[in-house]
Amino acid sequence: MRYGIVGFGTAGYHGVKEIRKYDPTGTIHVYGDTGMAPYNPMLTTYYAAGKLSYEGMFPFGTLEEMEKKYGFSYEKRPVKRVCAKERSIETDQGSAVYDKILIATGARAVDPAIQGLSAEDRFLMRTIFDGERLRKRVETGQVKYAVVIGASMVGIKVAELLNQQGIGTCLVDLADQIFPLSAYPDVAREIEGRVERQRVTLHFSTTIDHMERRDEGQTAVLTNGEEVPADIVVLCIGTRANVELMADAVEVKRGIVVNRRMETSAPGIYAAGDCCEGNDLESGQTQLIGLWANANHQGMTAGANMAGHFQEFQGNILHNITHFMNMDFIGFGDNRISGEILEHGDLQNGLYIRLVCQGGRIVGANILDHYRISGIIKNYMLRLFAGDRQEVPDYQRGMLVKAGIPETFMDKIAREING
Ligand SMILES: Cc1cc2nc3c(=O)[nH]c(=O)nc-3n(C[C@H](O)[C@H](O)[C@H](O)COP(=O)(O)OP(=O)(O)OC[C@H]3O[C@@H](n4cnc5c(N)ncnc54)[C@H](O)[C@@H]3O)c2cc1C
Repeated sequence: MRYGIVGFGTAGYHGVKEIRKYDPTGTIHVYGDTGMAPYNPMLTTYYAAGKLSYEGMFPFGTLEEMEKKYGFSYEKRPVKRVCAKERSIETDQGSAVYDKILIATGARAVDPAIQGLSAEDRFLMRTIFDGERLRKRVETGQVKYAVVIGASMVGIKVAELLNQQGIGTCLVDLADQIFPLSAYPDVAREIEGRVERQRVTLHFSTTIDHMERRDEGQTAVLTNGEEVPADIVVLCIGTRANVELMADAVEVKRGIVVNRRMETSAPGIYAAGDCCEGNDLESGQTQLIGLWANANHQGMTAGANMAGHFQEFQGNILHNITHFMNMDFIGFGDNRISGEILEHGDLQNGLYIRLVCQGGRIVGANILDHYRISGIIKNYMLRLFAGDRQEVPDYQRGMLVKAGIPETFMDKIAREING
């Protein structure tokens, strides 16, 4: 059997590992465009901040180690086209045919043109190279002011790292609040207050219009007319799935559409990670999920099935788990869906949890400063979405109680879920 893997981030790596588990002799050919072992993009802000070494970015070891361990060959060559009908992978050196192909090309940062913003002052935060570039620029000591566009989990971490370097930092978002896709409005207000008290300026319901050079320095002019000083601009306004290499015959929406076995609509072609739309357990639709653990599970599922071992990944829900500026925010599910609200704790004093329940499921959750309970809550939400009405197991209930969630609150959840 000949396997072709396109893209070598965490999804591609887990695909290779799992293929090798079930097929010790097949030929695995990996195409990557970096020439590097898979790194963790989640850590780029820590790397940019100087809190993590270069080696610390690579959680699975070196390329040489893994080539030896899993017996694959790696070609540093961007793939130009994957032809599903012929099952071929094309590079500038020609094309090769495979029995099974895994597309694991991830996503790239959205990078719109901004009038007056020079390439040198414009930054993104997706790749290890983005982290390195920002780090080097900050290290020059020449950056006094920065504007970060996008109040997401990436934007807030970039704002934090710049603020910690003593750079006057302004965070801007077109939405009217921080974490627009995951925080309930009053939770967002509390977070915004804490962020502002740590001297990051917030501008909502607006975005950057253009840059102007003045005698006193560079200025970002926002769409609402406000002006903020900005030696650099960091764009953290989301990602776009890398799907342009798919030549034909594969269903692509915002990402490559896959089923629970990570099969695309074309036989023999699989996809995993940020380039694909998998099952969103909450909506029942396919959706870009864009999470590390999700990419790992999808990669493993694809690899197993490619090597002839039946495996399914049920899917995931949207989530945001972010530690920043001395706080933890956790948002699960869709914050636009309303329902019965169950709350415990106090927003101002931390250790706060809000669950929104509807139809015997928890459709959304916000947790502030209580990250230890997040895994249990997320898994409970996932089980409910999968149709399993069991209550939180006793040992997990004990862990929640130990973490400060009272029995009475647990009883309330059980009553709400079971009707
Ligand atoms: C700053 C930041 C913070 C994040 N925070 C979190 C978080 O808190 N929690 C969380 O769960 N997730 C977080 N994520 C998201 C998480 O890192 C991704 O979901 C995950 O890394 C996706 O892995 P992947 O393998 O699908 O894609 P990638 O890591 O993007 O890997 C894809 C690889 O394919 C290569 N490639 C692309 N096109 C081609 C081609 N044509 N030919 C050959 N190779 C190609 C790319 O260069 C890349 O090496 C964060 C991401 C960033 C950037």
